[in-house]
Amino acid sequence: MIKRVPVKRLISQLVLGLFCCGQLWVVTAAEPQYETAVDEVMDAAIADLREWITIQSITDAENSHQGDKLNQLEAVVARAEALGLAARILPEGPVAIVEMGPAKPAVGILVHADVVPAGSRTDWDAHPFSGDLRDGEIWGRGSLDDKGPLVATLYAMALANQLNSGMTRGVRMIVGSSEEDLNWGDLDAVRTAGLVPEFGWTADAAFPIINAEKSFANLVARFAPGEGETEQFRLSGGSAPNSVPDRALFEIPGAEAAQIERFEAAVADYHSRFPEIGVNHLLQSGSWQLEVSGLAAHGASPERGINAISHLVQIVAPLVDDATATGRLIGFIHQALGMETDGTTLGIARNNETMGATTVNLGVVKSSPGGIEAFFNVRAPAGLGVAAIQGRMAEAVTRHQGELRLDQAMEALYVNPDQPFIDALRQVYTEVTGEPADLRAIGGTTYAKAFPNFVAFGMAMPGDPHLGHAANERITVTSLRRGMLIYLQAILATTGIN
Ligand SMILES: [Zn+2]
Repeated sequence: MIKRVPVKRLISQLVLGLFCCGQLWVVTAAEPQYETAVDEVMDAAIADLREWITIQSITDAENSHQGDKLNQLEAVVARAEALGLAARILPEGPVAIVEMGPAKPAVGILVHADVVPAGSRTDWDAHPFSGDLRDGEIWGRGSLDDKGPLVATLYAMALANQLNSGMTRGVRMIVGSSEEDLNWGDLDAVRTAGLVPEFGWTADAAFPIINAEKSFANLVARFAPGEGETEQFRLSGGSAPNSVPDRALFEIPGAEAAQIERFEAAVADYHSRFPEIGVNHLLQSGSWQLEVSGLAAHGASPERGINAISHLVQIVAPLVDDATATGRLIGFIHQALGMETDGTTLGIARNNETMGATTVNLGVVKSSPGGIEAFFNVRAPAGLGVAAIQGRMAEAVTRHQGELRLDQAMEALYVNPDQPFIDALRQVYTEVTGEPADLRAIGGTTYAKAFPNFVAFGMAMPGDPHLGHAANERITVTSLRRGMLIYLQAILATTGIN
């Protein structure tokens, strides 16, 4: 696909470039020479991607694929060297570093070589580690996330290295091997070695450009039984902190008739006021059970779901006291959260024009050896740090004699869009695709949070189905080629920035 750029547009870009940044890195992009260069390496790139999908560099809870991960990084290093790039593995990571041009300053490109497990084989229409090429699509785990973008970046670097003689910056591709565990401890090796670039992008999300991402914090409120305390209730629901629970169960073992009458009256009253909430109760072997059904949704947008646990708490809270651990947990949820999904009562509600509002998702309640626990996923715009969120929630939990712990967290990302490298990426994207390069804010987290001043840039196109982590993950040869073309031109444009 050869795009011709109208002269008028070229002039306006030139003017824009000069006024915006005082630099002449305007790229006339989609130039036939770049398309030809990409086409010449596509067969080799496809062959590498297909072969690398067969390397099962899986990140799992047991760390059972460390050897495969190392094999994958070694394959990247070997190919990079064969393509004329400098490459090595930092064994502490392990992380592969692939470089071209001056080592400093350098543009950074962050990708990863690990993949999530395949999941159930029966859900796949191809072997998940086959690397099959069928009807213009390359199949298998990692094809999109993130070996396809890795291959596109590697070949784009090799081409840029041949085409670009006057670069003032080098390029450093950083290939992580444990992105999928969300701890990213392997990247500490990059920091220790002083190899963090001043700016860059991750090729592990979507085009056009994501420069704002909310923070996230997975917090657990635990309520332990006191001395000699006998629990009267059971409460459970949900399966993951970042999903809105669509089912919750409350139980009173050995319930008395008068107690059952009070609870059933409360259920009937609630049902008359909120007929859309599914409520079911039954008495079985002396145990009174209440099941509430809601609507599942992603934890990043809890307002789109119906939280079964929160509704259940609304029903039973007036009838339980704080004499037991479950009662204290119910009291905490009822008073500090209610039906809110923005953390107003907790004091963590914020609303930022670019990044949106704080979201609080109560995802799971379950018994633990030390009592009963509630799992929250909180996401907040820049300006409200994880420590502040943790502090406010801990105050509320402590008022109900519980304890709060932080399981996992990452601060928000906001990259100033008024920088030459952002302008360069926007311009390249528009030139190659003909689409506007909007800056986007998301509630999720991308690999860009790993280093300061990194944005997410590709490689999925807006509207592409989300097949990463899913069955039948696959990438079209067209996407691989378009990604390589965009990255090649992005490298050429940003290595001229001084
Ligand atoms: Zn990824």
